[in-house]
Amino acid sequence: MIWNETIECMDREEMRKLQGIRLKRVVERVYHNTPFYRKKMQEMGVTPDDIESIEDIVKLPFTVKQDLRDNYPFDLMAAPMSEIVRLHASSGTTGKPIVVGYTRKDLSIWSEVVARCLTAVGVTKQDMVQVAYGYGLFTGGLGLHGGIENLGGTVIPMSSGNTQKQIQLMHDFGAKVLACTPSYALFLGETIKDSGIPREEFLLKTGIFGAEPWTENMRKEIEESLGIKAYDIYGLTEIIGPGVGGECECQNGTHLWEDHFFPEIVDPVTLQPVEPGQQGELVFTAITKEGMPMIRYRTRDLTSLNYEKCACGRTAVRMARILGRSDDMMIIRGVNVFPSQVESVILELPEFEPHYLIIVDRVNNTDTLEIQVEVRSEFYSDEMNKMISLKKKITDCMQSVIGIQPKVKLVEPRSIERSMGKAKRVIDNRKLV
Ligand code: ADP
Ligand code: ZN
Repeated sequence: MIWNETIECMDREEMRKLQGIRLKRVVERVYHNTPFYRKKMQEMGVTPDDIESIEDIVKLPFTVKQDLRDNYPFDLMAAPMSEIVRLHASSGTTGKPIVVGYTRKDLSIWSEVVARCLTAVGVTKQDMVQVAYGYGLFTGGLGLHGGIENLGGTVIPMSSGNTQKQIQLMHDFGAKVLACTPSYALFLGETIKDSGIPREEFLLKTGIFGAEPWTENMRKEIEESLGIKAYDIYGLTEIIGPGVGGECECQNGTHLWEDHFFPEIVDPVTLQPVEPGQQGELVFTAITKEGMPMIRYRTRDLTSLNYEKCACGRTAVRMARILGRSDDMMIIRGVNVFPSQVESVILELPEFEPHYLIIVDRVNNTDTLEIQVEVRSEFYSDEMNKMISLKKKITDCMQSVIGIQPKVKLVEPRSIERSMGKAKRVIDNRKLV
């Protein structure tokens, strides 16, 4: 089933034409309504008249997170506040949160793109979906919520947390679909196991997980633990929230809904477009947004794009799994390390639980990398020798993948704090100095 076949399977030339028309319209909109963009465009000597097709997008200035902070709270709006019907804000780990506003039309586009994601993984109006993303200013909960209602499915607006109750209702109501962060899905899987309720008593079949990076190995782990198919959903507050793209049943890349969010991949240093298929920083222009359209917004997410038609029939471009945000990259003794690399090593080894914590510090002017990882109870032992050889095994694997030797600390099962929203897996104490 395809939610919007005309768009999702549109011929590439036609799609580019549509994107060009929409780009021109949104550029006119921000030029006239948002002083920030007008000023930036004037500085570059560009006017809306210079935009005739989607190729002209390269003439436009980039936007970054700091621009949202500088224009806090409402200066990037391109519609009068009387037209804004909803506000959201991103958690923003440092400084001011970033605020976004939606018009009625923006909300309807949002619920459409989420409905596309749901449909792409086989969810229908017959299905009950438990939303265990946080509700509130965070876009996760309400974003999924709107999409499920649009599809006509039954939404259980649980929000995150309250784990015992999540499981009870999932069981009693017979939810077929679960939407939450991958880390919370893991925790729910573990808690279901502990609850002693037999797996057969749950109707759960499909998971829609996103809002944080996760690896292919993590997917396998979650699929086994919950006995479901797990699919990726991607999005960010600045662009609309969850549903900028989603995987289809092929599990072979995340389709981006490029009739609304035009993607580019640029070299994060030179800001020039990379060769087709190459990895770089993902940049979006929200070409149909009214409330707060972002122009060439640098996501800092590192990935690549594949324009080949998918086996599912969709032509919508597919994005590779996100390696991480460029600001998640740790530079340790000059070597670039991504948390996702650490995760994939841990999950390759059967002796370890998929729970870990990365602690970076600086001792005597030298960076240190400590990885705490839980040993599965079957492998946890009082015998020193066994634990030493286990530690050597994982340290060697880590070194061969990340290029430096970490200090590994094996910890008991269940000792690392579980996450109910976005997992915090890196503590960088260097930033404190
Ligand atoms: P915050 O910036 O405060 O975390 P957001 O909820 O807007 O708030 O976060 C969006 C970011 O979350 C994305 O830019 C990306 O880094 C990450 N993200 C969202 N979905 C996924 C996904 N499916 N895979 C990897 N990363 C994701
Ligand atoms: Zn597909």
